[in-house]
Amino acid sequence: TNQSWLWHVAFKNKQFIQMKKYLSILLILVAIGFTATGKPRKATPVVQPRVEPTFWWTGMKNPQLQLMVHAENIGTTRVALAYPGVRVIGVTAVENPNYLFIDLDLSGAQPGKFEIQFQKEGKTVALAPYELKVREPGSAWRKGFNSSDAMYLIMPDRFANGNPGNDEVTGMKEKPDRSTLMGRQGGDIKGLKDHLGYIADMGFTAIWLNPLLENDMPTFSYHGYATTDFYKVDGRYGSNEEYREFAEAAREKGIKLIMDMIFNHCGSEHWWMKDMPMADWINFYPDYKITTHVRNANQDPYASSYDKAMFSDGWFVPTMPDLNQRNPYLATYLIQNSIWWIEYVHLAGIRMDTYPYPDKEVMAEWNRLITEEYPDFNIVGEEWYLNQAVLSYWQKGKVNIDGYRGDLPSLMDFPLQNAVSTALRDPGTGELMKIYECLANDFQYPDPGNLVVFPDNHDMTRFFVQVNRDVSLFKMGIGFFLTTRGIPQIYYGSEIMMNHTGTHDSEYRKPFPGGWDGDPINGFTGLGLTAQEKEIQQFTQKLLNWRKGKEVIHSGKMTHFVPFDGCYVFFRYNDHEKVMVVLNKNSQETALKTDRLAEMLTGCSGAREVISGKEVTSLSSLTLPPKSISIFELKK
Ligand code: CA
Repeated sequence: TNQSWLWHVAFKNKQFIQMKKYLSILLILVAIGFTATGKPRKATPVVQPRVEPTFWWTGMKNPQLQLMVHAENIGTTRVALAYPGVRVIGVTAVENPNYLFIDLDLSGAQPGKFEIQFQKEGKTVALAPYELKVREPGSAWRKGFNSSDAMYLIMPDRFANGNPGNDEVTGMKEKPDRSTLMGRQGGDIKGLKDHLGYIADMGFTAIWLNPLLENDMPTFSYHGYATTDFYKVDGRYGSNEEYREFAEAAREKGIKLIMDMIFNHCGSEHWWMKDMPMADWINFYPDYKITTHVRNANQDPYASSYDKAMFSDGWFVPTMPDLNQRNPYLATYLIQNSIWWIEYVHLAGIRMDTYPYPDKEVMAEWNRLITEEYPDFNIVGEEWYLNQAVLSYWQKGKVNIDGYRGDLPSLMDFPLQNAVSTALRDPGTGELMKIYECLANDFQYPDPGNLVVFPDNHDMTRFFVQVNRDVSLFKMGIGFFLTTRGIPQIYYGSEIMMNHTGTHDSEYRKPFPGGWDGDPINGFTGLGLTAQEKEIQQFTQKLLNWRKGKEVIHSGKMTHFVPFDGCYVFFRYNDHEKVMVVLNKNSQETALKTDRLAEMLTGCSGAREVISGKEVTSLSSLTLPPKSISIFELKK
């Protein structure tokens, strides 16, 4: 392949030289034309190339910055830059002459603006203004999301339409269409900002937004996973500035912001797809192959190179070209892009999409570079697998037999999601054993307390449907996830028990009622909610707000018991507090004999049940309502 590349480059250069010849002749003709008509001769037009990152900051731990410059024939120019403290340490022209990569060292730079000149035969043919901004004080030491938080997952197109004026954006391919759930509904940043009060009152302390970068795709663009510009918020959600303002407003309300990022792929309408920097920018291009989705090719000691490549280099879907992170310029581009958004909107975390699909060495490097820049930051990866061995392989601190160090701080706990869902749904109380066994496998994780736990998300049937629309089982599940170890995440609408009958994924991404003018039901105000939906909302709100101040739930130890008498019992405790949680799956009232719990109950004289507020004076036998969760704050 190397030889064919070289040939390719040589051929391109030859074409370019020929093109240059024609251009010169054309220019002479134009010049003659002007002179003949007696008009003044026009100066050579100066173009403004695209430069990314669009700006940067001084005072970063890593003083190096690589700029990607894109403009016609920019690769044939000479770079001139004069700004105190900024040193050009490398300029690289690549096989496509329309790109130039500039390596800068900013060690001694002060914040300010300057120009980058691109010259040809002594003349400036292109000019790029650039800015180095001042970092916010304490930026490096921001606190990432952690187990003291409860995360609210929102799909921006589906939450609230605060600005109907941006539902349709001139020049963008897909128009709004509310006649189908597969169309864009018009939700936006303004809608999110308008309802920050609701989110904070509910007791959430973090928001994970599904991606909001530009997805200028002809159809099915509402989910946001086909990025067409890594530096631009989609116009139908708002602007970069609005995103930043939203993050600030959230921060003032004590809510951390987590950004959804995608390293594995971009959208097929991404601007660089029409003019790629290098032939190896995209895997399997142009004759793409679809990924096998056999994700444990990453861990499999017997995996063939063929299967590894077919998994990791195959495209997710035909509209999402697979990015080749092994190309060092692309890797740097993506890593800098993450840092840019962290710094620009003051993020408290990243949720990385399709975590096992990109190149695993580059992902590890990404984790390390982000953590070096922001030591208290948090990142959660989506590895949708039900085997803890596969998940734990990625987590920071894991000693793997193949020597791989993933350095990923957190993962989405899909095994626990599945265990709880099936333990509740499948008939019989013995099924509770699935929860016990799942958590017993925590020995494989270096840090199980940093996993994100959740009843459902935007990619799965809503939790209410998972538990056969049984309100009691639903409450047991929500209560469990808000008290077990880890960082709970609740999907928007679960707090009002959103439901669906269809099976297409757009069904579990329905608009939140009350987010659109004229909605007959309003989840924000409670108008039109059923008594049961209201009860669930109050239940969720009560537990979230209780959890907020409970260090014992955030970071306490955990001890659980093998399920008995149709109940699963676990304790969370630290030096000051002890909480006992009981899931009773029996369909009738149950007297829980507590003798076997003696090691945890010794020294406790009574309890207060958090949901009902009832006081318990005797712990020798506890009466549990049918199909219920009880949370007892134990008294010494
Ligand atoms: Ca809108």
